Amino acid sequence: MAQYIDYTKYPFILSPGELPRLGVERPVVIVLRDSGLRERLINLVRSIVERAELSEDSCSSIEECVLLYYAVLDLAKATGDKWFQNRIALVYSKHASRSLDRESPEKLVILGRKLGLDVSIFTGEPNIPKLLLVSKSREVEFTPCEFAITVTSYLRVVSRRLIHDQTYSLVNNIVSNGYVFLDRRTFQRILEETVFNRVLEKIEEATPPLDSEDFKVLLAEIEKTLSEARRDQYARSKREEAPKEDRSTGLERGELLVDEELFPPCMKRIVDTIRSGGNPSHVERFNLAAFLGSIGLDAEEVLDYFKSTTDFNEKIARYQVEHILGLRGGKKKYLPYSCEKMRASGLCPVQEQCKGGKNPLAVYKYVLRRLERARREGQDNRGS
Ligand code: SF4
Repeated sequence: MAQYIDYTKYPFILSPGELPRLGVERPVVIVLRDSGLRERLINLVRSIVERAELSEDSCSSIEECVLLYYAVLDLAKATGDKWFQNRIALVYSKHASRSLDRESPEKLVILGRKLGLDVSIFTGEPNIPKLLLVSKSREVEFTPCEFAITVTSYLRVVSRRLIHDQTYSLVNNIVSNGYVFLDRRTFQRILEETVFNRVLEKIEEATPPLDSEDFKVLLAEIEKTLSEARRDQYARSKREEAPKEDRSTGLERGELLVDEELFPPCMKRIVDTIRSGGNPSHVERFNLAAFLGSIGLDAEEVLDYFKSTTDFNEKIARYQVEHILGLRGGKKKYLPYSCEKMRASGLCPVQEQCKGGKNPLAVYKYVLRRLERARREGQDNRGS
């Protein structure tokens, strides 16, 4: 039976050429000519930037949804703003993900194929592989893995952001005859990730009409919206003002100096990912939060680090950070992984072990001790 696809939910699947009117003219040019559509486009950008969501009434027909989607991509490319680009990808992928919950398994496969995945389904087969799962209440269950995706297709999707998450590692999934077998929940996550990657690729390919005066006016308006929404984003990074050699490392008092430039490479890399508009993995977020909490930052200060991530959700992030800092539940304060575990999780960016210890916290303290010594020696030399 033919499967109907509601493209208002998945506008990224259609190319403009697949709709008669859009095949002739560029989407953003059509939008700019129509004041109603222009208004809708601005509202759409606002809801992406300010609330990280697509409102249900952001578009009302397939043609309109596709038009606005491609117009947003043009704007994203023209701003060159990585944070904005990642946020668009995230919002469209999360929006699609909510609709995927209600689709049949067959429809999920069709959508996967339209997104370029090499995937098949084995519903009703007697020998569907099953994955053993232990629930939180310690109940053991077997979940059928009826979605089979070729290893090549699978790795193309997970290699971008999910590579550090053990759930998606091949060794933790059923792999047979060149296919990875996934349960519905994991396959939906793979689809969501595929949408995220596709949106970013399409932004890269976009060719906005930079010579159009109307487009320039619209772009200026969007850039203003962007800068207003992100005004405080980097405020925290300016909190180190005094020159290093005159600052106490705080080692004697048990409060450590917070200086990102002295962070071990693994932590610096996660901070850089956030600052450049990237989206760190769950494990990276955990380790950065545990590291920052261990060097003395309070929950608010740790949260500040995550506020610029594209999917920041104050309520969820606060709960997680407070949990990691030992302020909730069992009151257990978590430490960052050991260097060995960081390496095994693909989070250590250096070849050789950093000096000073076997975990990022010990390494940071070692760097501070050296700084403290250099500071003292400097004072002694000035005094003699
Ligand atoms: S060796 Fe340890 S502290 Fe250094 S970058 Fe790797 S994980 Fe971080």
